[in-house]
Amino acid sequence: MVTSDGRRIECRAVIVASDLPSARELVTLPERESRRAGAVYFSTDKAPTDSRLVILDGTGKGPVLNAAVMSNVSSSYAPAGKHLVVAALPDVIDGDLAAVARTQLRTWWGPQVDAWVHLRTYRIAHAGVEQRPPFHPKRNIALGNGVFVCGDHRDTGSSQGALFSGRRCGELVAGALA
Ligand SMILES: Cc1cc2nc3c(=O)[nH]c(=O)nc-3n(C[C@H](O)[C@H](O)[C@H](O)COP(=O)(O)OP(=O)(O)OC[C@H]3O[C@@H](n4cnc5c(N)ncnc54)[C@H](O)[C@@H]3O)c2cc1C
Repeated sequence: MVTSDGRRIECRAVIVASDLPSARELVTLPERESRRAGAVYFSTDKAPTDSRLVILDGTGKGPVLNAAVMSNVSSSYAPAGKHLVVAALPDVIDGDLAAVARTQLRTWWGPQVDAWVHLRTYRIAHAGVEQRPPFHPKRNIALGNGVFVCGDHRDTGSSQGALFSGRRCGELVAGALA
C-alpha cells in the first residue's frame, strides 16, 4: 500500500474504515444518497442532567430528535469547566436551528435553557446514508486483493451499525489471514 505522502507499507490486508464519501475517494463503491442532519451546541454552567445517555424526544414531535450532555461523558469536551450540550435534529428546517432547539429543550428542562450560550450550529451534508425501504443492511465488505471496507454504510446508519460492520470486517480479515 502507498500512503498519500508516498510511504510504502507492506501488508496483507488494508481496511478502509471511514464514512462513505471518504471511502469512495479511496476505493470503488457505489454512490448512495446522503441523509442530512443538524447539530446545535450550547455551553452552560450547570448540566441539565447527570445522565451520560443520549436522551430521545419521547413525544415524536421533534424537531430535536435527541440531546446529550457531552461533558458528562468526558470533562475534556468542555475544557473551560463548563458543560457542553448538543441537540441533533434534521437539517430540513429553514431558519435558526439554535432557536428551534432552544424552544423545544425548554419544554424538557425549563427556563434554565434560556441562559445557555449558543456555541455552534452545524448543518451536516452527510450525516449518514439514506436507507429507505427496501433496505439491505449487510453490504459487501471484501473488495478483493486484500482490501476490506467497514463503517455504518456497510450495515445500518448508526453507531451500532458501525460497530457491527467493524466486527464483521475484523472477523473476515482474521479468517482470510489465518
Ligand atoms: C448529528 C448526528 C447525530 C447522530 N446521532 C446518532 C445517534 O444518536 N445514535 C446513533 O447510533 N448514531 C447517530 N449518528 C450516526 C453515527 O454518528 C454514525 O453512524 C457513526 O459515527 C458512523 O461511524 P463510522 O465509524 O462508520 O464513521 P465515522 O464516525 O464517520 O468515522 C469515520 C472516520 O474516518 C475518518 N476519515 C475519513 N477519511 C479518512 C482518511 N482518508 N484517512 C483517515 N481517516 C479518515 C473521519 O475523520 C472519521 O473520524 C449521528 C450522526 C450525526 C452526524
